[in-house]
Parts: sequence; structure tokens; C-alpha cells
Amino acid sequence: MLEGLDPEQREVATALHGPVCVLAGAGTGKTRAITHRIAYGVRAGILQPSSVLAVTFTSRAAGEMRGRLRQLGAHGVQARTFHSAALRQLQYFWPKAIGGGMPRLVDRKIQLVADAAAACGTRLDRNELRDVTAEIEWSKVTQTVPADYPYAAAKAGREAPRDPAEIAHLYAAYEDLKRDRAVIDFEDVLLLTVAVLQDRHDVAEQVRAQYQHFVVDEYQDVSPLQQRLLELWLGDRDNLCVVGDAGQTIYSFTGATPDHLLDFCARHPGATVVKLVRDYRSTPQVVRLANGLLAQARGRAADHRLELVSQRPAGPEPGYTEYTDEPAEAEGAARRIRELIDAGVPAAEIAVLFRTNAQSETYEQALADAGVPYQLRGAERFFDRPEVRKAGVALRGAARFGGNDSLLDDAVDLPSQVRAVLSGEGWTSEPPAGSGAVRERWESLAALVNLAHDLAAARPGATLGDFVTELDERAGAQHAPTVQGVTLASLHAAKGLEWDVVFLVGVAEGMLPITYARTDEQIEEERRLLYVGVTRARERLHVSWALSRSPGGRANRRPSRFLDGLRPGTTPTAGRTGPAGGGGVERGSAGGPGAAPRRAQRTPARCRVCGRTLTDAGEMKLMRCEDCPSDMDEGLYERLRAWRAVQAERSGQPDFCVFTDRTLVAIAEAQPESPAELSRIPGVLSRKLRSYGADVLAICAGREPVGDGGSD
Ligand code: ATP
Ligand code: MG
Repeated sequence: MLEGLDPEQREVATALHGPVCVLAGAGTGKTRAITHRIAYGVRAGILQPSSVLAVTFTSRAAGEMRGRLRQLGAHGVQARTFHSAALRQLQYFWPKAIGGGMPRLVDRKIQLVADAAAACGTRLDRNELRDVTAEIEWSKVTQTVPADYPYAAAKAGREAPRDPAEIAHLYAAYEDLKRDRAVIDFEDVLLLTVAVLQDRHDVAEQVRAQYQHFVVDEYQDVSPLQQRLLELWLGDRDNLCVVGDAGQTIYSFTGATPDHLLDFCARHPGATVVKLVRDYRSTPQVVRLANGLLAQARGRAADHRLELVSQRPAGPEPGYTEYTDEPAEAEGAARRIRELIDAGVPAAEIAVLFRTNAQSETYEQALADAGVPYQLRGAERFFDRPEVRKAGVALRGAARFGGNDSLLDDAVDLPSQVRAVLSGEGWTSEPPAGSGAVRERWESLAALVNLAHDLAAARPGATLGDFVTELDERAGAQHAPTVQGVTLASLHAAKGLEWDVVFLVGVAEGMLPITYARTDEQIEEERRLLYVGVTRARERLHVSWALSRSPGGRANRRPSRFLDGLRPGTTPTAGRTGPAGGGGVERGSAGGPGAAPRRAQRTPARCRVCGRTLTDAGEMKLMRCEDCPSDMDEGLYERLRAWRAVQAERSGQPDFCVFTDRTLVAIAEAQPESPAELSRIPGVLSRKLRSYGADVLAICAGREPVGDGGSD
């Protein structure tokens, strides 16, 4: 068990008692050290498997951990996310601690937010809906109640996707709706578990009697709420082992902080502290880029950086490719992936990582067009997928009545039996055309077919009954089979994981860092996200970006500032507006003429009074600096406000749902004379223009409103 570890990792694995803290960079074997630690303790008879609780952050990472533990023979150890561990406890203790059955967990939070918005008479587009949902989640993990949101959000420097007062209102409506429908959400699970453990000593004691040893992976991203839960689990004991890399803190936008990791020794004097620097994952070429990114990082996390030393043989240099537009970038990546697969690289060893989930669709389409299988959701909750459950039922039925099932008449070996049964569930030998849900279902079934092949190869005489048993065991351990497809994932979802080949796409200003990262801390978090992305690659890394969003669009993007000085032909001092560099950068050949200018400037929003470039959303809405003199017509502003009150009253929605104060100020300042002028005012969406445009223009022109509003 200890042979596959280096001396420092071995120190981690054998320190089975007392607090242990592992501070180490990406790919240095933190997860490996703790999984071996658990397995070693279990196999040496020192740890009771059922008394160990291992927690990590994403369900993918938890799945990965369960797989590794199972392979090491540590059966019966719980490896979960904070959420799923809390959920299990809450479900178990609910009748005793609260009474009755536990409310249903809402499965589509975003729909509930949409319903709450509708109840407020606010219509949110897809992106706004996602952003408002994120704000609600952030509020909950930081324990901010609706009324405090505007203040807390401003203090944390958050870019509210809407007027903060409006978000607070939506958040309150969301909480009400949840109560009315008797459901709870993901964040409530942690909040309620903490509350139960805090209030009920008998319950807390029961949990503590069950779990004696705690291991936390990715500890740099623990939120205050999760830390509280961990403390409640521990009580006054100190059998806690945490591992993390402050340089990979990427969830501070949700309230997480690396302080818990960095201050661990202060809180646990006498803790065993181990630092790992040998990087076993990536080639020296990938590691050089990772170290370069770290060297430019600033802030507390960066002060604790450890330079990585690759232990692997040399590999290819990271590639950098510039494309004219996003579809061309996706097509280029898909083409290369096709070539890699044709050359024998397994699809499951390739990943495409992006900054926002919205980028996924273009890549799904491009991969589908190139005939490349892909998986979106990863292996998490594989056994909970409806198609997998249905397939399980069908397989179980067939195993029971096998001999009498005409379906199986011609199927001699296990794989063909499984294929025959799954054909009835929608499995086909060739994947369905196109992307989306149909394709995802097919991939799940194909993974089951592959598993049958694996089992037949490992155990030649295996029967359908054996296969069903294997599935049950895996479901119990949540050990998902490998889905043979290229992984499409956000950088956030990719933490802790690794692939031979990684495509980091959309590495352009505006995406990385993302436009709404404004403060230095937010920019640093974006840099860490890129560091996480780079360090996922074992051998090959392809970095790319596109100069414009769509074909023929304005080429107003430039590669991410984080690459300055690291990719060939650039210098570190190039800064944010420096030349984009060139030498060594490959140009994507697909999509459109290469005539697009390399680096057209984005037209920045400028203050119409002093001309300063505006970056603050509120100021952009006003189209001037907050403290530049206002040339507003006060009388007009008051008339607009009075009209707004009537509209709000008539449609039964709050004032700000008609127009926010800021938008009214902007209108009163700009005094638009035509629909076109009015539509240029930020905050006047086409929907509002349709509903209220005629009224507003009439008021601005000094006439009576025509009264067509209120239908919104
Ligand atoms: P991250 O910070 O990204 O979570 P990590 O520190 O948890 O990374 P692991 O995922 O545990 O790193 O390990 C990275 C890779 O290096 C894995 O493939 C692992 O099997 C391999 N590895 C780690 N330690 C060793 C070792 N001592 N010998 C051989 N391979 C190792
Ligand atoms: Mg890890």
C-alpha cells in the first residue's frame, strides 16, 4: 500500500492520528496520498471503514475518490461531497430532530427562481436567471438574509446582475415560494444540518459516534458554512486530515476561503504538516506554464506558492491557437480531437475545458458534427440517471428470466446479451446523430455495454446475473463506469481531475478573466482558474481563443492577459492593452478569411461628461461617472417617477420592475427623442421599449403619456 508513494506522501499516509495538513500544488499526489492513507489504515486494521468520512467538493471528484478507494480495496468508506454527506444525515435525522418527513429537495432551482421572478412580475432571460440564482446561492452560503443582500453584495464587491434591491426582492420571493411548495434547496441542506447538529446534542453525539476520522480534499475551497459543519462533526476531537492548494482556490465567489487551510496550524498546534512539490501528473512543459502562471499570481494564496517539479519525461510544448471566431475555434478543436482519436487516443482521455457553461453548446455541436462522442455530466450520479435505472430494471428482469427471453436467444456471450437487452432501451450500435439529451442517454447505455465487455474480459464465464451483481455493487459504491467520450466541463467542475490531453478554449479577455471580474481579488481568482485548467493536462495542452464571437463579427477580442510573457512572442509587461504578440502562435485555419485585424479595440463605455472609461455597471447605466455633474432635468425625473408608480400599481409589480431609479435618471438626463435613442440607454430592453417606449418618449417630449404601458 505504501510502495506507490514517495517519502512525503508516505508520511501523510502513516500519520493516522491527530491533525494532519497537506499543503501542496496541483498534481503532487494529494488525493493519492489521502486515498492511500485511508486504504492503509483500513487494511492495517487501524481504521474502521465505516468510521471514516472523506469529503471533497464536486461530485465528480467524490466519484473519482470512491473509484480510487475501491481499487485500493478500502470498501465501505464514505467518500462524499459536503452536500451529499449532509443530505444523508439530514434525511436520517429529520423525523427525530424536526418531525415528519423531510421536504423534497428541489431539483430545478433555476425553475423555482424563474417562478419567483414571475410572481414578482419580473422577466429574466436565461443568463440573468442563472446569475440571479448564483446570487441567491452566494447569499445563502454566506448566511446573508434577503434584506441584507444589497449591503453584503456591495461590501463583497459583487457585480449584481440586476439592481441589488431587485435581487433582494427576488431572493425573498424565492424563499417564500420554497416554503409554500414545501421544498428545500441545496444550500438549505447544509444550513439545516448545521442547525440540527448545533441544537440537538443527542443527534450530534450519534453522528460523532459513527464517524471518528475525517479527511477533506480540496480544503482551500471550504466555505464558512462547510467549515462550521466540519467542526460540528468533529466535536472536541482532532482526527482530521486536510489537503489543499491555496493556488487552486476557485470558489471564493461562493464565499469559500483558503484561510481555513492556511491557518490550519494556528488552529491545530502540533499538527503534522507535509508539503509536496513533486508533480507526478504533468510533463515539464505543462509544469513550466503552470509555474509561470503561479509566479505572476498575487495575494495571500500566492504567498504560499510552491514551485512544482515535474517527474515525468518531456512532452510537447503547449500549443496556442488563435481563431477568427468561436465556431471556428470549436471546429478547430473538434478536428484535432478527431485526429487524436483516430490516432488511438481514447476519447475518455481528452477534455475540453471552458470558463462558462454557456460555451458548452458550441463545442457539443462541433464534436457531434465531427462524429466525436462526448460526455457532459461526467460520471457523477451515473446510477441515478433515469436511463441507467431503467436499464438496470431491464437487465435484472432478463437475468431472472434469461432462459425464457426470446431477446436473448441468439446472444451467446455476456456483452451480446447486454446489448440485446439494452437495444430495447434505446441502445444502438452507432450513436444517434446530433447532440443533446438523446445523445447523452445513448452514452449512458454505451457505458453499460462497455462495462459488460470489461467484465467479460476480466471474468470469462461471467453471466448476466454476475453483471447485475457488479452493477449493484458499483451503484452502492457510486463507482460509475468510464463513459467513453470526450469530457466537456467548466474549469470549476474540472478541479481534482486529469486527462492526457486538455483543450483550454476561450482563453480571451472577457472570458478569462471574465468580464465581471473587476477587483484585484476577482482577477486573481480568474488567474487561479486558468492555473487549475493548465494543471489538468498530463501530456498535451492546447490553449486557444477567438477574436470574435461569431463569423463575420467584429474582431475585438484579444488573448488573455494571463498568457502575456508565457506564450511565445509575448512579454510579461505587455499588460492589459499591450500588443498581442505573434511569433509561435498558430492561427486557426478554419472559419473565414484570415483578414480580421488581430487586435481591434473594444469600444469602451465612456463618461459623457468627462470622457473617462467606465467599468462600473451602475456608471455604465448612467453613461457618466457617479460623481460627474448630472445634467438631469429634475422635473422630468419626477414626472417619470410618478408615471412609473402608476404603471407599477396597474400591473401589480414593484416600481423597479418597470424601470430602476438609475434607468429613470439616465432617461431624464438623456431626454431621448426617438425609440432608437431610448433603446441606447442601458436598462431599456426591447421588451420595455415595446411596453413603455411610447409613454416615456411622450413624457420626455412634454406630452401626456398615451397609456399603452402596463402590459409587461
Ligand atoms: P490536484 O491538486 O489537481 O487535486 P493532486 O495533488 O490531488 O492534484 P493526484 O490527483 O493525487 O494529485 O495525483 C496526480 C497524478 O499523479 C495521479 O495520476 C497520481 O496517480 C499520480 N501520482 C501521484 N503520486 C504519485 C507517485 N508517488 N508515484 C506515481 N504516480 C503518482
Ligand atoms: Mg486532488
